[in-house]
Amino acid sequence: MEPQGPNADAKGPGWRDMAGSSFDGMSPDGIASPVLAALHTLHHQHRGPCGGAVATYIPELAKADPSLFGISLATVDGHVYEVGDSRHEFTIQSISKPLVYGLVLADHGRDHVVTKVGVEPSGDAFNSIIFDEKGNRPFNPMVNAGAIATTALIDGASPEERLARIVDLFGRFAGRPLAIDHEVFLSERETGHRNRAIAWLERNFGMIDAQIDEHLDLYFQQCSILVTACDLAMMAATLANAGVNPKTGERVLAPHHVRDILSVMNTCGMYDYAGTWSFDVGLPAKSGVGGGIIAVLPGQFGIGTFSPPLDDRGNSCRGLRVCQALSEVFNLHVFAVSPSPLTVIRNQYRATRVHSKRLRSAPERAVLDRFGDEVCIYELQGDLYFASMERLLRDLDGGLEGVCYVILDARRVGRIDASARRLLNRLHEALADQGKRLLLSGLPASLLSLLREEAELPWPDESWFEDEDTALEWCENRLIAAHIPASRRPVGPLPLAAIEIFACLTTDELAAVQTIVEEVRYCAGERIIREGEQADCFYVVRSGSVIVRLDLGPEKRMKRLAAIGPGLCFGEIALFDGGHRSADVVADEETSCYRIPVERLAQLTGAYPDIRAKLLFNIGRELSARLRSATGEIRALEGLGDP
Ligand code: GLN
Repeated sequence: MEPQGPNADAKGPGWRDMAGSSFDGMSPDGIASPVLAALHTLHHQHRGPCGGAVATYIPELAKADPSLFGISLATVDGHVYEVGDSRHEFTIQSISKPLVYGLVLADHGRDHVVTKVGVEPSGDAFNSIIFDEKGNRPFNPMVNAGAIATTALIDGASPEERLARIVDLFGRFAGRPLAIDHEVFLSERETGHRNRAIAWLERNFGMIDAQIDEHLDLYFQQCSILVTACDLAMMAATLANAGVNPKTGERVLAPHHVRDILSVMNTCGMYDYAGTWSFDVGLPAKSGVGGGIIAVLPGQFGIGTFSPPLDDRGNSCRGLRVCQALSEVFNLHVFAVSPSPLTVIRNQYRATRVHSKRLRSAPERAVLDRFGDEVCIYELQGDLYFASMERLLRDLDGGLEGVCYVILDARRVGRIDASARRLLNRLHEALADQGKRLLLSGLPASLLSLLREEAELPWPDESWFEDEDTALEWCENRLIAAHIPASRRPVGPLPLAAIEIFACLTTDELAAVQTIVEEVRYCAGERIIREGEQADCFYVVRSGSVIVRLDLGPEKRMKRLAAIGPGLCFGEIALFDGGHRSADVVADEETSCYRIPVERLAQLTGAYPDIRAKLLFNIGRELSARLRSATGEIRALEGLGDP
C-alpha cells in the first residue's frame, strides 16, 4: 500500500530537504548532527494529519491522542537519537510478539518451537483465524494465533512467574525496568473475544494445552507493557546488536535466536503488508496497534516510532512513512547494504623491512637483515567473516615460500564470526602441517578463548600476543637464537670495553671513562627516566632490559617506543642538547646500567680531548642506522616498495 493522505508526496525527502530542515540538529557541544537533523525533518514533514485512525477495538486504546508522534534511533554502540514524543508511554501490543518468540526459543530450542508455530507468512491480517492445516499449527509467531500459541509455551511454575519472566525480558531489551498498563490489560481481557476464540480453536486442534485463560491473560499482559519510542529503538538496537543491549552491555538473547526473530520479522512482521514492506523498506520490522513500530538494520541500529493512528492493516501510518523515508534517503534496505571483504588486508610485509621496537646490536641486525623474510606480517582490518577470511586465505596461499612465521595482527579487526574462527583454526592446522607457525596479535581475550576451545589442533602457548610489536619481537628473538650461537651472546653484565659506543677508545681513554661511570641497578618496573626531566646524563645497559614508553593518560595504556637490551645506550640526547626528557624509561626486568653524567664527561676533555668526539661519532652512527631503518619501516608501513 502506498502512503496516503496529505503527506503522501513527502515520501522520500532528498538529502537537500534533510539539510534544509527547520531544526539545525545542534548537539549540546554545538556540532550539528546531520542524523538528528534528518529525524527532525521527517518529524516535521509527517506530523500533520495522516489519514489513519487510532485502534478502538480495545476500548482503552481509543483514548490515545492521535497527534502524539515520536521517533527514536539507537545505534549498536548505544547512542540514542530522539525527536518529538519519544518519551511518551504507550502499550507495546504486537511488538511484544518477536520478543516473546525469542524467550520461547531460548526455553525450548527452535526445533521444538517450529513444530508448534510455523514460520510461513500467512498473507493475512494480524487477527486472522486461519491455520497451517498441514502442520497443525498457526502460520507464524507474528499473527495473533501464532503469538498466543507462542505465549502458551513460556516456561514458569506459576502464572506470576511466567509474567515476571516476560516483564523482565522486555526490561532487559529496553535497558530499564518496565511496567504493565492495567487499564489496557483489563480492557482487552474484557473485550478480546476474537483472541479468545482463536485460543479455543487452537485448543480444539490440540495446538495449545488446557490453561487457556492463563495463556490469554499472559498474552494480554505482554501486549499491555508500557514502552516509549526510545525503549522500542533500544529493543530494536539490541536485536541489531545480535542480542546484546548496547546501553547495558547485557546479553539478552543468544545470536542464533536473534537471527530467527529477525527472519520472521522480515517475512511476517508487517502482516499482510509484509511483502511490500520488505520490498520497499527492506528492514525487519514489527508493528503494534498501540501505534509503535520497530525496524532493525542488523549490525547498525534500531528504529522505534510512535504515532497512534493506524492504517487499515493495523500499522501506524506515520511510523510506516518515517521508516520508508529513512530507508530511502539513507539507502538502508538490508539487500542494499553489503560488507566489503576486499579491504581485509591493510598491509603486508616481512621482518626484513619492519622491525620490532627492540633495539638490536649490529650482529643481531645482520641476522634480521638476512633472515627476516622468514617472518611475514599481515595487518588486518574490518570484520572477519567468511568472505574476508577467504580473501586473506587466498593471499596467503602460495605467498609463504620460505616463511616460517605468519603474524596476523587483528588490532583493527572488529567482529570475528564463527565461520572466520573455523577458518582461522584450519589455517593454523594447515601451516603447522608445513612446519610453519601462526601467531595472532591484538585479539580480545574472549575471542582467544573461543578460538582455543574450538581448535582441533591445540595452539602452542606462544601463539597470542598483545600487539604486533611483541609478536614480531618474539619471532626476531627466535631468528637471532637460531643464527647467533649461544657462545657468541653476552653472559652477565657487560664490561665497558664490550660496548659498541666505547669501541675505538684507547686503553687510557677507557680507563678515564671508567672513573666517571656509575653502576646503577634497577628492579623490574622501576622508573629510570621521567618525561620532562632535565637531561644531564646518558645510560648504557649492562644487563637486563629497559623500555622507553609514552604514558597516554590514565585511561589508556602505555605505548612502547623502544626496548633496549645489553650493550645499547639510551638517554643520549643529554649529550647533544641537554634539553628535557621526551619519554619515560623503565626497567623491564632486573637491570644494571652504566650511568654517565655529561658534566663529568666534559671535565675529562682537558686531559683526553678525543673522548667526546669519538663517543659523539659512535652515537651519531648508531642514530643514523636507526633513522635509516625507521625510514625503511615508514616505506613498508605506507605500502611503498624498496627505493
Ligand atoms: N493485543 C493486540 C491483539 O491481540 C495486539 C495486536 C497488534 O498489536 N497488532 O489484538
